Amino acid sequence: MAVPKRKTSPMKRNQRRSHHALKVVGVAECKNCGELKRPHHVCPHCSHYDGREVVKGSSVR
Ligand SMILES: [Zn+2]
Repeated sequence: MAVPKRKTSPMKRNQRRSHHALKVVGVAECKNCGELKRPHHVCPHCSHYDGREVVKGSSVR
């Protein structure tokens, strides 16, 4: 198995980690109840999507 010849320098390690930051998630307003939800996801408050109820009998989520 190939083994690194040298220990990764702090600069190279930090350059690699420069891409690891978390991105801000987008939010959209639910058309039915007006709560904030993730785009392209069923609303967790009223289980509506695209203006209609898509999950039956799920008042818990
Ligand atoms: Zn909703």
